[in-house]
Amino acid sequence: MENEALTALFLGQLPGFRLDTVQVAETVVVIATSIQPTSGCPTCGTSSARVHSRYRRHLSDLPAGGTSVTLELAVRRFVCQEPLCRQHIFCERFVDGLTPSVRRSRRALAVIQHVSVILGGNAGAALLKRMQCRVSASTVLRAARLLPPVVRSVPEVIGVDDFAFRRGHVYGTVIVDLETRRPIELLSDRSASTLAAWLKQHPHIKIISRDRSLEYEKGICEGAPMAQQVLDRWHVLKNCREALERQLARDRTAILEICHDQVPLPSLPRTHSEQARRSERQQVRQQVFDRIHALSINGRSQRAISRKLYVSRGRVRAALTAKVQPPLGRQQSRSGILAPFLSYLQHRFSQGERNAGQLLREVRQQGFSGSRKRVAQWMQMRRTAPAKTTPGPYVAMGR
Ligand SMILES: [Zn+2]
Repeated sequence: MENEALTALFLGQLPGFRLDTVQVAETVVVIATSIQPTSGCPTCGTSSARVHSRYRRHLSDLPAGGTSVTLELAVRRFVCQEPLCRQHIFCERFVDGLTPSVRRSRRALAVIQHVSVILGGNAGAALLKRMQCRVSASTVLRAARLLPPVVRSVPEVIGVDDFAFRRGHVYGTVIVDLETRRPIELLSDRSASTLAAWLKQHPHIKIISRDRSLEYEKGICEGAPMAQQVLDRWHVLKNCREALERQLARDRTAILEICHDQVPLPSLPRTHSEQARRSERQQVRQQVFDRIHALSINGRSQRAISRKLYVSRGRVRAALTAKVQPPLGRQQSRSGILAPFLSYLQHRFSQGERNAGQLLREVRQQGFSGSRKRVAQWMQMRRTAPAKTTPGPYVAMGR
C-alpha cells in the first residue's frame, strides 16, 4: 500500500515503470525500472522485444518537502527487428514523450516554463533555486522556447494610436486587436506610410478606430481603403464637449439673461491643453503689446504700427492708452448695465408690453444709464412677431 502511494506520487506521470526504492538523503532519489515488454523503433515504427543492453537515465523532478528529487530510471536499448531498417539499435521509447534527450520530468518542465514566462531568465532561475530546483537562467529561457506558439486569431477590428518610445521625442504606433483587447503590433513611427504598409499586409481588417490624426487617416485611406474608419470613443466625447463649450460660450449672455436670479455660471475646470493654449495666446498678445509700444517710442504713427503689425488701429490705440497688457479674461457680460432692470423688464414683457422705446423710458426713470440699443436688443431676442413700428417691406423680407 505504501509502495503504491509512493509510485503514484513519483511515477504517476511515468506509466511503464516499476518503483524499486526511494532513497532519502540530501536529495530524494527515486529508483525505478522500465517494465514495458516492447518498444517501437523511432525510424520504422516496428515494435521490438529484443533487448540489446541496459543503462540508467537521470531525470530531475519537482522537489518534495523542500528537497530536490531525482528519478533514476533503469531503461534499455532495443535491436530493431525490421531487416531493411537503417536503425539497428535504438533507445527505449515511452508513451508520454519521454525522449532520450529529456533530462527533466514533464511536470518539472511545466513549472519552469510558467516561471520563465512570468519572471524571465535571471529572476526565474533565482526563484527556482529557492524552491530547490537548480537551473541556470539560460535553461529557464530555453524552457519558454519549447512552449507551443500562441495561435493568434486574424484581427478584423483594430485600434490605432500613438505611444512614446521617449516622451516628447520619439513616438511609435501601437495597433490593438479590439476584439481580444490585446496589442498586436508596434510600429517604429506614426507616419502614414508605415501604417499603410502594415495595413496592406493585413487585408482582412474591416474596422479601424483612430484618433483625430490626419496622418493616420491618410495611412488608412492608402493602406486599407475599404476599411471603415471610426473615431475612438474618447475623441468623440472630446469633440462633443468642445463643441458644447463653444456654443455655451457664444450664448453666455442669453443664458445669463434667462437666469433671472443672475447667479453667475460656475466656470468649468480647464484641461491642461486648454490652459496651455490660453497661456500661449496670452504670450502672443503680450508680444504684440510690447512691439506696439516699442514702435511708438521709435516715433511711428498709429497708422504705421497698424500696417506693420497687421492689427487694427483700434487695438493699437487701446494698447497705447493702457500701461500694461490686461490679462486674458472672460469678457464683461454685456447684460451688466441692464442687469438691475431685467426682472422689471421681464415683468413688463409678461404684461404684454412690446414697445422697446416705452420700456427704455421706464427703466431710465429707474436709473438706467445705458443706450436705447441695449433695451432694443433685449426686446428683439424675445419677440415672436414683428414690432408694430417695423416698416412693411422688412416684415415681408422676414417671412
Ligand atoms: Zn527500425
